[in-house]
Amino acid sequence: MKKIGLMGGTFDPIHYGHLVLAEQIRTQFGLDMVYFIPVGIPPHKQDKNISSSKDRYFMTLLATITNPNFEVSKIEIEDNNISYTVNTIKKFKEKIDCDAELYFITGADAIYELETWKNVKELLTLCKFIAASRPGIDERKLRQKIMELNEKYNSHILVTAVPALAISSTDIRNRIRFGKSIKYILPESVEYYIYKNKLYI
Ligand code: ATP
Ligand code: MG
Repeated sequence: MKKIGLMGGTFDPIHYGHLVLAEQIRTQFGLDMVYFIPVGIPPHKQDKNISSSKDRYFMTLLATITNPNFEVSKIEIEDNNISYTVNTIKKFKEKIDCDAELYFITGADAIYELETWKNVKELLTLCKFIAASRPGIDERKLRQKIMELNEKYNSHILVTAVPALAISSTDIRNRIRFGKSIKYILPESVEYYIYKNKLYI
């Protein structure tokens, strides 16, 4: 059976934190492919100003193009409804033509928010979750939280460590706003896309 990773995110912009996370988990867990899914209408970030779906999609495409095991999915950005992961996974399962085992890849911060996600109980039966450490998050507390969730929901959230990169999209947007360098924090192609399209200024 194929193993497919799904990596949801705002990707505003995508950076090396996301790419290292996906590639490390892909190789550690023997996943055949990882699909990056830029969010359409994020349930949690509705009040914030986010870049257009088109810009976030293009940046994700540029960043992943050199990896034959990475794909970008338009499943959420082509949908006019709020992007709930539970619906995305169901739609994704209908779309793929093989029986695949699905793994949803997240950074540690998402685990702490998981119980606010729509139909979390059902969601945890649809796929396995792989949570990775992220700088600023205590790994012992993370493992404790995951144990609690697994007991409560009878779920299979796995946890792993990836090389720590203290990078976030928020920090990149702020750097641009303040005229600071973003070189080597994200792929050069994405850096040039941002400047060419005057994003985040
Ligand atoms: P923002 O600052 O706008 O929230 P972000 O950098 O957190 O952006 P998201 O698009 O929100 O990026 O994150 C998508 C997924 O990638 C989340 O599961 C998040 O935990 C994970 N992630 C993002 N950056 C890192 C990083 N540096 N290390 C590990 N995981 C990360
Ligand atoms: Mg985030």
